[in-house]
Amino acid sequence: MNIKKLQQFLEENNLPKFRLGQIQKAIFMDGVSSFSEITTLSKNLREKIEKEMQLLSFEVEKVLVAEDGQSIKALLKLFDGNLIETVLISPKPGIWSACISCQVGCAMGCRFCATGKMGFKRDLTDEEITDQVLFWRQYLKKNSKLFGNCNLGFENCDVKNIVYMGMGEPFNNWKEVSESIKILTDEKLFGFGSRSISVSTSGIADGIERMANEFPQVNLAISLHFASDEKRDRFMPVNKKDNLEKLRNALKKYFQITKRKVFLEYIMLDGINDAALDAKLLADFIHSIGNTHLLHINLIRYNMTSEELKPSSKTRTQLFKQELEKYNVNTTIRKSLGEEIKAACGQLAGE
Ligand code: SAH
Ligand code: SF4
Repeated sequence: MNIKKLQQFLEENNLPKFRLGQIQKAIFMDGVSSFSEITTLSKNLREKIEKEMQLLSFEVEKVLVAEDGQSIKALLKLFDGNLIETVLISPKPGIWSACISCQVGCAMGCRFCATGKMGFKRDLTDEEITDQVLFWRQYLKKNSKLFGNCNLGFENCDVKNIVYMGMGEPFNNWKEVSESIKILTDEKLFGFGSRSISVSTSGIADGIERMANEFPQVNLAISLHFASDEKRDRFMPVNKKDNLEKLRNALKKYFQITKRKVFLEYIMLDGINDAALDAKLLADFIHSIGNTHLLHINLIRYNMTSEELKPSSKTRTQLFKQELEKYNVNTTIRKSLGEEIKAACGQLAGE
């Protein structure tokens, strides 16, 4: 929803200021799916807005619901024809997280990621980013009764968390991403708390510092995946510029400013980064940063995007966790959701 256009529309039609608040509340908080549902407005006004304004900046091409009802993926067609994907995940009954995209494709070229394989097409605008959340809010409102684990009523079935973990690298589109965070946390608009928002980066060092200064309360996740420069170079081209040394320094500065927990994502790749020696290197990296209690490793299952790589077995993942714990590193094995509908991490490719 383009807020500036809405303000302009109200001015052009000589409508009193309080109407803006009324309409914003209906759209952003209540999640109406069309202007005609805003019954506090006269019928004439509703019809006029409906004709002149657009609630969402894309059309919904397809919605896929996983069999367990815990993840839902939507394929969205932007007005210029580009396709993006957004995912809604329910890690616990009644809790929904919206995983949103910030670019069409991605320029970073990580070898294990389906989005990376697409290459970069364009940045999304702040409106296209936040409309993904608006879309899910509307969707949950309309469908809350359909989902078994959502029988607690709409209030308990709203989007609770937002993660910038869809398509794209947030720090490559920081202007629009930072605007989108302001819209999501604006009390007159979406009203999310900063702490319910997480931004994930492949490890762009100056972006990490910028985020600490601009949004110290927003959660940060870093896709680390490898604890040796040699391996990280091979799979993540970002490492050639921002290597482990640079990441270490960026994290040290981050902690000086925020003192907040950071999540380090680590995909488990069979025979590549899952041996005891890799765990040792990872633990050494963590301890070299300091503030170990603020660093948390998430071990993620690799979702196959090509035949080149294979996921580590459950046993190997468990052993890797135990190994890290020997070195006093906080570690969690993350459950992968949405693989069957290609909605899991790294599988989004706008298809
Ligand atoms: N570009 C940002 C945001 C995307 S988040 C980033 O890379 O952090 C998507 C997460 O899924 C990242 O941690 C990414 O490294 C991870 N990922 C990519 N491909 C994957 C795959 N095939 N299996 C599991 N995780 C993958
Ligand atoms: Fe881009 Fe993130 Fe995929 Fe890497 S993992 S290609 S940074 S979306």
